[in-house]
Parts: sequence; structure tokens; C-alpha cells
Amino acid sequence: MTRLRITEIFHSLQGESRTVGLPTVFVRLTGCPLRCVYCDTAYAFSGGDWCSLDEILQQVREFGCSHVCVTGGEPLAQKGAGELLSALCDAGYEVSLETSGALDIGSVDPRVSRVMDLKTPGSGEVERNLMGNLDLLTARDQVKFVIGDERDYDWSRELLETHRLHQRCEVLFSPVHGALPAERLAEWVLRDRLPVRFQLQLHKLLWGDERGR
Ligand code: SF4
Repeated sequence: MTRLRITEIFHSLQGESRTVGLPTVFVRLTGCPLRCVYCDTAYAFSGGDWCSLDEILQQVREFGCSHVCVTGGEPLAQKGAGELLSALCDAGYEVSLETSGALDIGSVDPRVSRVMDLKTPGSGEVERNLMGNLDLLTARDQVKFVIGDERDYDWSRELLETHRLHQRCEVLFSPVHGALPAERLAEWVLRDRLPVRFQLQLHKLLWGDERGR
């Protein structure tokens, strides 16, 4: 029987991406092989409870919400993640996956909207990017750059242009919360006429770093 280690399941507003502001159930899987310097979910690196697919689906169902976001940690680090994503799709939910971009996204159910980070130099994990993932992105997906300084911005811009990422999927640029003033990133995006969506993390504006929000 497939079981996954779960840190938390909660109901909140989607804080990022194309569905920002929509009520969403978050399923946070435990564990991540990366250690980004700005990580705000280090509490999901360990612990968690083993749950069967039925138990997870039952908890999700209780919130009565049509959008589900599977997040982490790094969800794809658990063997059963693909099965969970497909089971949520089969149950009729609009499903998104937040993934670091360090693991192969190729086997993810095509009904899932993949929101994939590309780790910038300032994350400390740039070497972990699996660049082959870029060729797998489709219009259902989004690629996210979390930008901490000008070097990160230049790196992100170059990658965007080299790989014509905006022609594949939606591209999101966000400042590292507390490191880069949001208005500076907004001005760079406008100055350079970048075809990207600038975004702030809505849940941080509403609730700061409160867990389960
Ligand atoms: S990939 Fe995500 S969960 Fe893992 S260390 Fe980086 S920010 Fe944290």
C-alpha cells in the first residue's frame, strides 16, 4: 500500500502562481534533498506522519475545496508522490505541484500544473537544477525564479532569454522575502520589458511566516 510522509494538510489562499488568491488545500510532503539559504519550510525537512492515499484524500475532501496544491519540502523526493498526484486528479481536483526543479518532472501526471523553481545562484543550490526539465515544460506549467539580488536577476534574465522560457510556459519572478526590496525587482522587470509575471507571496503579506497558512 502506498504511503507518504506528510508534514501538514491545511486550507488557505494560494499565495503564488497563476491561481494566487484562490482558496486551496495544501498537502505538504515531508523531506527535501536541497538546502536553499532562504528556505521558509525547514520544518518540513523531517518528521511528519505516514499516511495512506485514502487517508490523505479523506483529509483533503473534508475542506470542500476544488484546488489542491501538493508542496513540500520537495514532493517528488517521495516515491509515492506521482500516485498521489494522479489520485487527486482522478478525484476531480484542480491539482498543482510545487517542485524545486532538481528532480525529474517527466513522469508527473499531465493533468497536473507544475510550478517549478529554477534555483538561482543566491539560493546556494544552483548546481542542483536539472536543466533537462526545461524541455518538458508546457503551457499548463509555470517556472519560478526567486531572486535575492542583482546577480540572481541577471542570471534569471539570461536563462529566460536563452531558453525562450516565456514561449513555453508562464514565467514568475519573485523577490526573496526580506532580502531584495520588491519595488527594485518590479522596476528591473519593467525597465527590461521582461515577459514575466512579477509576484509577491500573498500569504506572507497576510500572515507573515505563520505555519499552516
Ligand atoms: S527546495 Fe524548497 S523546501 Fe527544499 S530547501 Fe529549497 S526552498 Fe526549502
